Formats: sequence, structure tokens, C-alpha cells
Amino acid sequence: MAIINVDSNGKADVLDYKNALEILEKEYSQRDGIDVQTLINSKTNGGLTYNDFLILPGYIGFAANEVALDTPITKRITLKTPFVSSPMDTVTEHQMAIHIALLGGLGVIHHNCSAEEQAEMVAKVKRFENGFISDPIVISPETTVAEAKALKEKWGFGGFPVTEKGTLRSKLVGIITPRDVQFHDNLNDPVTAVMSTDLITAREGIDLKEANDILTKSKKGKLPIVDENFNLITLVSRSDLMKNLHYPLASKLPESKQLISAAAIGTRPEDKVRLQKLVDAGLDIVVLDSSQGNSMYQIEMIKYIKEKYPNLDVIGGNVVTREQAAALIAAGVDGLRIGMGSGSACITQEVMAVGRPQATSVYNVTSFARRFGVPCIADGGIQNVGHIVKGIALGASTVMMGGLLAGTTESPGQYFVSREGQLVKAYRGMGSIDAMEDKKAGAGSKDAKASNAGTARYFSEGDRLLVAQGVSGSVLDRGSVNKFIPYLMAGVQHSLQDIGVKSLTELRQGVVDGTVRFEMRTVSAQAEGNVHGLHSFDKKLYS
Ligand code: GDP
Ligand code: GDP
Ligand code: 5GP
Repeated sequence: MAIINVDSNGKADVLDYKNALEILEKEYSQRDGIDVQTLINSKTNGGLTYNDFLILPGYIGFAANEVALDTPITKRITLKTPFVSSPMDTVTEHQMAIHIALLGGLGVIHHNCSAEEQAEMVAKVKRFENGFISDPIVISPETTVAEAKALKEKWGFGGFPVTEKGTLRSKLVGIITPRDVQFHDNLNDPVTAVMSTDLITAREGIDLKEANDILTKSKKGKLPIVDENFNLITLVSRSDLMKNLHYPLASKLPESKQLISAAAIGTRPEDKVRLQKLVDAGLDIVVLDSSQGNSMYQIEMIKYIKEKYPNLDVIGGNVVTREQAAALIAAGVDGLRIGMGSGSACITQEVMAVGRPQATSVYNVTSFARRFGVPCIADGGIQNVGHIVKGIALGASTVMMGGLLAGTTESPGQYFVSREGQLVKAYRGMGSIDAMEDKKAGAGSKDAKASNAGTARYFSEGDRLLVAQGVSGSVLDRGSVNKFIPYLMAGVQHSLQDIGVKSLTELRQGVVDGTVRFEMRTVSAQAEGNVHGLHSFDKKLYS
């Protein structure tokens, strides 16, 4: 439609359509919409939530699948997608951590369990995928079939090389796989009764590509690598070749073929013992789990970790103000986690009168932290793809989700049928009475007293009365993360295409430069933007 100027005589003066872009450039000094600073400063609304604003569309000059979602999670580590699962006992154990990492995100393993259980989960993530398996589980000729089956139960894989001494760097005598022991009834037989001895092996010094070529040709599941005296040095597994093909986005450190692992701990003295166990299991990133991170305990812990484990990345938090962020940045954090009271199962703001609306928190913390190169996680309150994009537009590098992922197959716990007849899974705040009572009773923990600290962020040993900061409930079934995360990914790519930016980095930069524009969203605008006027509808989000 052309712009029509009508003069006092009612004569229309239509501008030549060919000049539209030129006139826009010359006569409109400001872009349409408002910049991020104006958005955040819009005082009438106080603190902003994700629902209070929208991002304006830009120019689409590329396909949605060209949009890159690479993004840093710490100063050192970059992921291929911005999706992080929350350290909650109804969200992230090893299954979630493994599958979200395969899809390019990261799962932070919760700590409402003993240190040993948590370390075992970290080890499972690290062992899930490998190039050369540098410390394979090795058994001895005396190991029984029953013991081999138990090892498979514990680790989830059942291919074990057999060496004379039952250790690495000892002479290889055979190999067993699940198939060898599966139907062997005499459980007390030694594995020598069932193992294969005619082995295809390769010599130490071979590179991974050559090893994989041999595996492809031999059609075996494992390739033991030996030295000149036939001592076992490492192992290569065919299934890793397949995983590499199927999960091109998997989160790995550049120098490693293993998945990145992350776990949460508290800031008490016993958490130092817990941390050592996690580090021994191969931990890459530790998240200090506290609802108000700006404390002397956390600052001391950050310094201790940076000094003792220089290769371990530390994410501090939670924070919602610049001042909190500055204290943790000065102590040396490699990443920050933002949010207080915005979680879906959370009642902190009501009970404590403390907290901050999430959009304002994310903008204030990230705009300060980016000056120090510290990436931030927007944690809590993510209910849909739009919230993810808004969190990142306001400066976050990644988003952490609890409730949104709690209904997936990979979260802990069983599905059950709700009173309304829907398939649901339990989801509870870590500061709910339920979760805190489990901590007190040590439920799910072999060694409750030592370390059941997952709810320590809301509960102190000396407290005689439990004050809830969260609730306990359920969420609807969402199927597997293998479908749900690709849906979130495609959704974010389409959203960025609409905004006219080709990557998350470009989105954040566009917001800083003022080229990505916003609009406030009144209550009626929110109603307009949601489904309205329909008698009934079915909200199916992807297929
Ligand atoms: P298996 O035939 O039951 O051993 O299982 P697969 O070969 O299908 O899968 C084994 C997976 O576990 C691979 O991804 C390995 O990298 C991984 N893994 C990690 N540590 C070990 C180990 O000590 N031994 C074996 N066999 N696999 C390991
Ligand atoms: P799959 O993952 O179930 O296909 O198992 P594998 O291919 O690893 O093993 C199948 C059979 O081959 C079992 O009887 C194993 O003991 C045997 N096997 C595994 N690795 C080797 C090897 O390197 N050489 C030989 N000759 N046999 C092997
Ligand atoms: P969601 O994705 O469900 O909206 O929020 C998840 C986030 O809520 C978690 O990552 C954590 O920061 C926060 N959270 C988890 N449990 C509680 C709780 O009991 N109280 C409060 N205040 N926050 C919680």
C-alpha cells in the first residue's frame, strides 16, 4: 500500500512506490518499535516477564534450517544448542543428561542423592560415548557369568575384554559380549567357558579412523587394541561409530569423543567431598546450586574450586541483580545462572518477598556479565519456544528448563494417570515440602547423612520448621526428548528467521546494536496473541 498525503484542498499526493526504502531511510531516524533499553526502562510496568513484550519481525533472507544455534555455556565450553535441563530430582538423572547431550544440549545432574549415586550418574554420561575407551571395564578369566551379567546391569554395556590379570595392560585372552552370556544357564561358570578367543585386534598407535575402518570390515562390535606383547591397551566400540553418525550435534569437548557432563552441588563443607567424587568420575562443569548465590559460602567455594580444579568450569548462581553477579564474577565463575522465583513450581516470591521478574533479571545480569565474557543461563519460567527466544534476545546464552522437560520419557520417575485421565509425571520444586522431607529422611539415598544435599539451597540443617519455597505436582506427558528437543530447535530457528537473524550470536548483537526491536504487550495484546474466539480447539504443537 502506498503512503498517501492529502493536502488542505483534499488533493491526494501519492509518493512513488519505488522511493519507499529511500524515504524510510531519510525521514525516519528511528526504526519501528523500541530498543531493549527503552523496553526494560518502561517504568509503568515495573519488572518485565517474558509475556510482557514481543520482538518485531525483520527481513527473511535465508532458510530456517540455516540458523546456527551454537552458544557458550561457560567461558571455555560451547554447545551446539541452547537447551539445558535443570538439576532437579524429577528432571535430570543420567538418562536425561545423556540424551539431551546427544542432541547438543546439556543436562545438569541433581544432588538430592548420595555423592556416590551422583558420581555414578556422571560416570554413566562420560562412558556413554567414546573414541578410544581409555579405561574399559576389563574382567579376568576367573570372573563368573553371573558377575559379568551384574556388570552389564550396572554399566548398561556388556562387552568386556578378558585379560590374564583382569586389568588393562595385561595379556588379552578373550572377549565376551551380552550375546555370549545371555542364554548361558550355568551362572557359576567362569567367562572362559563362553568367551570368544579368536580375536580381531589392532596394534597400539592406530588412529581412530583406521580403527573404525577395521571395525566396519570385521563386522564385530568391539576392536581391542593391543601392544606388541598382546597386552590390552584400549578398546574401540562399533556402537560409538553409529552414535557419531546419528547425533552430529552431540555436546563434546573438542579434544574428546565423550559427552560433556555437568552436575550440581551445594556450598557446604561436605560438598567438597562430594565434588572430589564427581571430578574422579569425569565431571566437566559444576553448577553451584543456591537460590541466592551471592553468599560468603558460594564465593569461598568458587575460589576453592578454581584453585583446586583449574580444568573444571564453575557456574555460579542464582542471581538476578548486577550486584550479585559482580560478586560471583569477581570470585572467578565461568558462567552464571539467572532466576529467582520464576520457576513453574516455585513460590519463593510469595513467601520470601524476594525475587525479580525474569525478563528484567536476565537483561540486567547479562548486560553486565557480557563485559567480562561470562555466559549466562536464563533459568526458570520457560513455557514455550517464544520464551526461549526472548531469554536469549535479552542476553542469555542458554536456557534452563525444569517443568518443560519433566514430562519427557528421559526424566526420572514413572508416568501415571491423573484424576482427569491424562498421562502425567510427577514434577516438584526442590524447595517443596516433599523434596525437603526426602532430604531429611534420606529417601533414594544409600548414605543419607553424608550428603543428601539437593535441597540444601532451601533448607538448613538447623531449621526446626520447613518453610516451603516450591510446590509438588505433575506435568503432562511430552514423549521423548529425542522428538521434543528437535521441536524446540526447529521452533527457535523459525523464530530467528522471522526476526531476520542467522544465529543466536547475531540475535544478541542485534539487540545490543538496536537493530532488533521490541514492542510492549498490553494485557489485551496478550489476549489477542493467544487463541481466542474459538468454541474449542486442540493445541498440538508438533508432529
Ligand atoms: P555392549 O555390546 O553391551 O558392550 O554395548 P555397545 O557396544 O552397544 O555399547 C557400549 C557403549 O558403552 C559404547 O558407547 C562405549 O563407548 C561405552 N563404554 C564406555 N565404557 C565402556 C567400557 O568400559 N566397556 C565397553 N564395552 N563399553 C564402554
Ligand atoms: P553384537 O554387538 O551383539 O553384534 O556383538 P559382537 O559383534 O561384539 O559379538 C558377537 C560375537 O562375536 C560374540 O560371540 C563375541 O564374543 C564375538 N566377538 C566380539 N568381538 C570379537 C572379535 O574381535 N573377534 C572375534 N573373532 N569375535 C568377537
Ligand atoms: P521451570 O522450568 O519449571 O519453570 O523452572 C525450573 C527452575 O525452578 C529450576 O531450574 C530452579 O532454578 C527453580 N526451582 C526448582 N525448584 C524450586 C523451588 O522449590 N523453589 C524455587 N524458588 N525455585 C525452584
